[in-house]
Amino acid sequence: PAMLGMLGGGQLGRFFVIAAHEMGYKVAVLDPDRNSPAGKIADVHLCAAYDDEAALRSMAEQCAAITTEFENVPAATLEFLAQHRTVRPAASAVAIAQNRVAEKNFFRDAGLPVAPYAVIQQAADIPGADSGLYPAILKVARFGYDGKGQARVANVEEARAAFEKFGAEICVLERMLKLDYEVSLVLARDADGQVAAFPVAENAHLNGILDVSIAPARGDETIREQARALAVEVAKKLNYVGVLGVEFFVSEGQLLVNEMAPRPHNSGHYTIDACVTNQFEQQVRALAGLPLGDARQHSPAVMVNLLGDIWKNGAEPAWDIAFAEPGLKMHLYGKHEARPGRKMGHFTVIGERAEAVLSEAMQVRDQLGVGK
Ligand code: ATP
Ligand code: MG
Ligand code: MG
Repeated sequence: PAMLGMLGGGQLGRFFVIAAHEMGYKVAVLDPDRNSPAGKIADVHLCAAYDDEAALRSMAEQCAAITTEFENVPAATLEFLAQHRTVRPAASAVAIAQNRVAEKNFFRDAGLPVAPYAVIQQAADIPGADSGLYPAILKVARFGYDGKGQARVANVEEARAAFEKFGAEICVLERMLKLDYEVSLVLARDADGQVAAFPVAENAHLNGILDVSIAPARGDETIREQARALAVEVAKKLNYVGVLGVEFFVSEGQLLVNEMAPRPHNSGHYTIDACVTNQFEQQVRALAGLPLGDARQHSPAVMVNLLGDIWKNGAEPAWDIAFAEPGLKMHLYGKHEARPGRKMGHFTVIGERAEAVLSEAMQVRDQLGVGK
């Protein structure tokens, strides 16, 4: 069988390996961590840095096509691999998604609605930024995730202090919005430009980390339609091939694009249990050049993230509470060390009625001690 390549060995890579195996493909995973969730179940685990030329050569030799599970893979790595093999998504799209300045400028130049922002290259740019941005959030342009590399700043002084604290890295200074709620959409786009979009999810965050996703999103139907149209436009403008996640704010009734991920998205995990085709199978399909699967959702779903925090004093959470719920599907990622804030797994509750699914999921979430 053909071998597919995956850059990164985290839980997203692991779900990709599972989907690929189910479809008869082998997978080679590149990840420097010997114990990475995807590396452990891959057919080939290249245990090396992402810019290790020997490992990249080996991957290019063995794999028919290569993708990524995280946006911070060096653009040079993707470009190198693309000289020898099909790489999806393209390095150019990943380069935009991995840099908040490039990303925001791309959205703005494409005419998409975004929160007002200024680019801060150096401390001297801070006093010159529009004072209407405050209260604001300062976000580092690179390597931020789960709200890391972000600071809420009330004024120029605080922005300066936060900028220095981040090591004077290039940042985006963004207006702090009044959020009604947040939504996201995952789609797959194939090489012919066909798009299969999953239903919009409604997302709640805790300490900057995704906590709960409700799918389909509640609220205004026009918001869901707009989110879909905007995400499709983003994919088209990038000439994107693969799976793309787009995050949105709904602020005072208005939909704004927040950021994108050039890969399956945590808020799309509900598709594993609630859709005809899940986001990882779509990633395999788009990569292997197969037609995209049916993205239809067959059951209302609520996904809850399980962070290391619920392993109190290292003790295993009371899983029997979760397994007592017949509509609950558990997904643990096989990580050995449960650190606070670390994504260890998630569960999804599906059922016939959206309201019942939500209350069941929230009850189990509460009983497992999530957020406490
Ligand atoms: P991710 O893990 O999704 O990649 P991230 O670290 O890249 O997260 P963002 O998505 O920019 O960060 O922000 C994390 C969360 O912080 C958002 O989902 C939202 O809840 C809140 N947030 C970010 N920017 C703003 C804003 N301008 N106004 C209000 N809330 C915001
Ligand atoms: Mg992000
Ligand atoms: Mg985000």
